[in-house]
Order: sequence, then C-alpha cells, then structure tokens
Amino acid sequence: MLEDLYGRVVTNLRIAVTQRCNLRCIYCHREGEKDSGKEIDAERIAEIAKVFHELGVKKLKITGGEPLLRRDICEVISSLPEFEEVSMTTNGTLLSNRAMDLKESGLDRVNVSLDTLNAEKYRYITEKGELKAVLEGIESAVEAKLTPLKLNMVLMKGINEDEVFEMLEFANSFNKNETNVILQLIELIPNSKTARYYLNPEIFEEKFEKMAKAIKIRDMHRRKQFLTSLGVVEIVKPLDNSDFCRHCNRIRVTSDGKIKLCLMSEKTLDLSGLHGEELKRAIFEAVKLRKPFFT
Ligand code: SAM
Repeated sequence: MLEDLYGRVVTNLRIAVTQRCNLRCIYCHREGEKDSGKEIDAERIAEIAKVFHELGVKKLKITGGEPLLRRDICEVISSLPEFEEVSMTTNGTLLSNRAMDLKESGLDRVNVSLDTLNAEKYRYITEKGELKAVLEGIESAVEAKLTPLKLNMVLMKGINEDEVFEMLEFANSFNKNETNVILQLIELIPNSKTARYYLNPEIFEEKFEKMAKAIKIRDMHRRKQFLTSLGVVEIVKPLDNSDFCRHCNRIRVTSDGKIKLCLMSEKTLDLSGLHGEELKRAIFEAVKLRKPFFT
C-alpha cells in the first residue's frame, strides 16, 4: 500500500500523456508542468502504471495537454493494467470521431472541459476553440457510454458565473433513465493574470446545499456532490487546505515520465532508467515525500 507520512493512502494516479494542446485556455495551469518537449511512449506509460496498480492504485486518469492529440492514445489505453476505473480529461474538441474507439480500447469515462455554452465566450476563453465540436464530442461520448461524463466548468467572475444553473440543466438534459452527465464546478486556481476572474464557489455551494435532495461526500478531497432537482453537481475546491489537501489520494506522472507529488508543488522525481524493483522503490520513496501543500 502506498501511504504517505500524513496517513493519506494513494489510490489515484493522474498521468499526463502530452503537453501539446490545440487550445490556449486563458487560465490553464498546464497540470503544473513545464514542457520538456519529451513524451514517454505507450510502453513506458504501461510499465509505470502497472507498478502503481500492483501497489494498490485503483483509478487512473489520463490528462495532458490534450490527450486526444496523441495518435497512439487508444494503444496507450489498451496497454494499461486492469484498474477499477480508467478515465480521461479532454477538451472534447476531437472526441466525436474517437469516442467509440476509446471505449473499445478500455476507457471507462471522460471529463470534458466546458466553461460556457456561449460560442463567443468559448472562443475568448480558449483563444480559438469551436464550441460546436465540443458539444458534438459530448454527444458521441454519451452514446459510446463513456459515462458518467463530468463537465468540468472552471468558475470565473464576470465570465461564466451567470451560467452555472444553465450548465447544470444542460448536463441534466442527458440524464433520461440514468445519470450520464454530472456538472463539476471547479474553483479557479488563479495566477497574476487571472486573479481578477477568481470567485469563491462557496456562494454556489450554499445554494446547492439548500436545493439538494441528497448530498454525497466523496473520499477524494472530501468533494461534495449535490443531487438537486436540476441535476447532479460536484464542487472542486483545490485551494481548500483542510479538505482538499488533507484528503488528497492522488499522485501524478508527467508527460516526460517523472513523478509529481502535487499539482501545486514544483517537486518532481525522475523515473527514467528505472525498471522493476528499482522503479517500485522510487515510487515508494516519492510517496513518503508527499505532504499536504498548505501545511
Ligand atoms: N486538455 C484537457 C482538458 O481540457 O480537459 C486536459 C488538461 S486540462 C489542464 C485539465 C483540467 O484542468 C481542465 O478541466 C481544466 O479546466 C482544469 N484547469 C486548468 N487550469 C485550471 C486552473 N487555473 N484552475 C482550475 N482548473 C484548471
């Protein structure tokens, strides 16, 4: 079992498979990576994932950059060991042609980043993205049963705060007999350029609390999921030191094959050249270095 010195057991692995992206979102943290220009191949991703799987990791999330820019993305997925869940975070622009292949390769579900339903705002946020392509991608993903699909909406003051309920209804429009689509409202991690867009999601949390028929608290980051008459919404508060950091069971691997202990920390450990027992030992050592970022 991978347990750090704060009693947090690592059960989730997030692997960035590329740093390349076809959008330029105004707020993007790039998963905290600096682009080295190197991408590990499908075989190496599988080798690293297998060791984490043997050490008790249950869920794997593929991210980027934009993971669908990798031509071998289906090979990456089909080479993975049998995790309880393999999911992907994507901007959805390239999803419509690939959803079925991804499902057949072994992908269980997707998160699609969608901050607005307004095409003009979408273009502003992403610099050049076409909303239509994302909406088609979401439909294809639901058809291919890459569900429950989560819509990742980063909350931004003056940009999309007026769309939260509309987005919840949009997500719910896919839920006929089962919950296929959930809204995930994400607190913006601001930097000097985006600080002006920061809005604490608590104001929505309070509203959802009043509206909710049921509230589920997830192990991961103690995230609250509200079941409301408008749909299901989960709130993600990465700046919340008490719950998010104290209950973080996630570790990261960068697109160039390094362990990254935390999104907010610069610290990485290079795994290159390590295999078998050596690789396992390096992962154990890395986990011992994890600490809640806000301590
Ligand atoms: N290209 C893929 C996508 O768009 O989903 C995967 C990479 S993207 C960095 C992963 C997720 O991080 C997206 O849902 C995005 O909205 C979120 N994200 C990026 N920058 C963020 C920030 N500054 N604050 C909060 N969430 C952020």
